[in-house]
Amino acid sequence: MKKLVILGGGESGVGTALLGKKQGYEVFVSDNGKLKNKYKDVLEHNEIEWEENGHTVPRLLKADLVMKSPGIPDHVSVIRQLKEAGIPVISEIEFASRYTDATLIGITGSNGKTTTTMLTYHLLKSAGLHVGMAGNIGDSFAAMVASQDYDYYVLEISSFQLDGIIDFRPHIAVITNISPDHLDRYENDYSKYIASKFRITMNQNDDDWLIYDADNEEITTWLASHKTRAGLLPFSLMRKPDEGAYIENQTMTIKINNDTNTMTTESLTLEGKHNQKNAMAASAVAQLLKIRKSTIRESMQSFQGVEHRLEKVLKIKDVQYINDSKATNVNATYYALDSMKAPTVWIVGGVDKGNDYLALMPLVREKVKAVVCLGVDNRKLVEAFGNVVDVLVETTDMEEAVKIARKVADKGDTVLLSPACASFDLFENYEDRGRKFKEAVRNL
Ligand code: ADP
Repeated sequence: MKKLVILGGGESGVGTALLGKKQGYEVFVSDNGKLKNKYKDVLEHNEIEWEENGHTVPRLLKADLVMKSPGIPDHVSVIRQLKEAGIPVISEIEFASRYTDATLIGITGSNGKTTTTMLTYHLLKSAGLHVGMAGNIGDSFAAMVASQDYDYYVLEISSFQLDGIIDFRPHIAVITNISPDHLDRYENDYSKYIASKFRITMNQNDDDWLIYDADNEEITTWLASHKTRAGLLPFSLMRKPDEGAYIENQTMTIKINNDTNTMTTESLTLEGKHNQKNAMAASAVAQLLKIRKSTIRESMQSFQGVEHRLEKVLKIKDVQYINDSKATNVNATYYALDSMKAPTVWIVGGVDKGNDYLALMPLVREKVKAVVCLGVDNRKLVEAFGNVVDVLVETTDMEEAVKIARKVADKGDTVLLSPACASFDLFENYEDRGRKFKEAVRNL
């Protein structure tokens, strides 16, 4: 019996364990930290062996194959030892894709993965396709392959998952955009992070497609100097590609193989230029899969958006409160501010990942009337914006932040939580931060 070792007993690890067991492997799950009870139960129930709070390295070195969870960096000693022993270390999408013949749609990028994945899934499902959605969202891809028999999968894929692929080949790949993020995992070398994102196309062939943001310099520069066999479908807000998608005079056009679909941008439920880009990407996928144009248009209008992404919470005394807690980097916040139509009280801050706020200056000058810094260390924010806005306040408490915002906001204004930072100084994660914001707003 071949031995499969799984490092990391979270969602992707336990999913891989189930699929591995089903495929006849002897499976062992090993985690440096503690396993959640719900995962322990699943493993016990399926008679899969596991350990926590450390790795029994000699046992791991007997593996024929190792699946490493995306959270584990390459440089830790156990990974180095496995690689030195010549044992293949792969990611969950690599493992799972070996056991399905479904058509794979892989979506990666620095921002917009979840939104584009959910929108694409919504379009395909509305068209009646037998489709699953997995990856960074909800259930793991491996768990789905073990328990379902879908014809299509829409997968949200991080660069860490792509680092561990060998043969993974999506029929349709989407790169929503690339901007600096997670550089700590790439030796602070931006080019390595970019190369990692482009691994999504490395196994594609002539029948496959790569959909990408043609306004993104990192992407176009890479494509100008590297080869991919996939057909290229750019989308752009700035120019009209011969093939691909663009927006002109509030009309979104998608042109593939002389087949053209158009819809007005006013009919899109999602707001903001970034969401127009996500809509172009998702529509291009749907059109490639020959979904009826009327279905694409209708489902685009019925999509409800995703929690914590420019999510409208409440309007109180004519002030609109918006939760964009998922904006954990400057680029995401850029698009949030860009889509603000009213004077904005901006709640920002948290764990700074080496942010450069310069790109936000014009938008802040134009739209932001007050800044509420919500973080343990707000020095960089105060330095950047202290002289740019009339009001800047610091707090470490969400409830207080929301109360201050209410005080400063006038009728017709917007209060926007778009932190541009990670949440770990004051919250468990971005979901916790978003929920606490919504709770505070509801309690006003
Ligand atoms: P991801 O899964 O890549 O983190 P999300 O869809 O969760 O992406 O969105 C993360 C943040 O980025 C949100 O604040 C959202 O409003 C913003 N965003 C969404 N799409 C884009 C895009 N195409 N470009 C830039 N920012 C985006």
